[in-house]
Amino acid sequence: MIVRKGVSLFFLSYLLIVFQCDCFSQRKGKVDLPTIAIVTTGGTIAEKKDPETGSLIPIVSGYDLVQAVPGISDLAKIKIFEFSNIDSSRMTPDIWKNLSKKVDVILKDTEIDGAIVTHGTDTMEVGAYFLDLTVQSEKPVVFVGAMKDASSFSPDGPENIYNALVQITSKQAHCFGVTVTLNQYIHSPRDVRKTETTNIQTFDSGKKGCLGYIAAGMVHCFRKRFCSQKFFLPKTLKDVSLIKTFAGDNGSLVRYAADSDVKGIVIEGVGAGNVNEEVYKAILYALEKDIFVVLTTAVFDGAVYPLYGGNGGGYELQQRGVIFAGDLPSEKARILLMLALAQDNSSSETIAKCFEM
Ligand code: ASP
Repeated sequence: MIVRKGVSLFFLSYLLIVFQCDCFSQRKGKVDLPTIAIVTTGGTIAEKKDPETGSLIPIVSGYDLVQAVPGISDLAKIKIFEFSNIDSSRMTPDIWKNLSKKVDVILKDTEIDGAIVTHGTDTMEVGAYFLDLTVQSEKPVVFVGAMKDASSFSPDGPENIYNALVQITSKQAHCFGVTVTLNQYIHSPRDVRKTETTNIQTFDSGKKGCLGYIAAGMVHCFRKRFCSQKFFLPKTLKDVSLIKTFAGDNGSLVRYAADSDVKGIVIEGVGAGNVNEEVYKAILYALEKDIFVVLTTAVFDGAVYPLYGGNGGGYELQQRGVIFAGDLPSEKARILLMLALAQDNSSSETIAKCFEM
């Protein structure tokens, strides 16, 4: 069914009903192949051009996605779980919470050896990070997507799914946990960033580099993941704001957030972790209200440090109780703070510890 109105599209396509299809698992003579779950959530990989408007719409089913991958049944038996079909701009922490729960339930099945999650690339790094922090299973989970839709001249989705299967069925790559794997590169969700809006080589792990590379049906491992921590999924997630500061910022956004019902604010500062004096005063206002304030930087590579003095300098911010997020990007610092705040007995110390990892 093609639904053309954006809003109804969202509600119709966000179905938490799991459709399971064994149709790719029945090949003769392939009994020893591993069984891999493909959990579909949407994104460009599941979109095609609407012939009337030319805009992209989510109409590719899990079955279609799998059928578009040549040779898939030589690698694994596939079970499809249709979780949702939404653009990843519509993802929320609560949806990721349900996805994480679903993936863990799927991976509890002893017959299933790993899961591929198809997801829009716009927020993939954040969703994958959420699952990296919360999926309890040690089986591999690989996030894949596509930069080109299924009706384009050369869709990248099928090859990305194929490579994800190569990775997941390779023993070498099992220590990677949850990964973001696109265009042959395997990335740690914590470190990877989307860097291009339309190019297939969009994901980049900066100076830390990717975990590995997939070529000619083989996985080449480059490095281990640097850190991993796990949280139990809370019943509810606390609200956390994310505010980017800018030249001439008068702090009003921080004050507004502090006056609303948030439990935490992530401040994306500049450089090595600084804000101007007005924002500094607004941060003190938030801290006085017992709101946890976490500092990140707008800079692509590198961490925040208590280096600079003066009102708004990193040193002074840390003295006043601001938690430093290291090199964790702002959107992920927000997810980490939400999860850390939802754990029993969370305090400044326990939360600060989470950001040290
Ligand atoms: N807008 C799409 C999404 O994130 C982009 C993509 O999937 O590449 O859902």
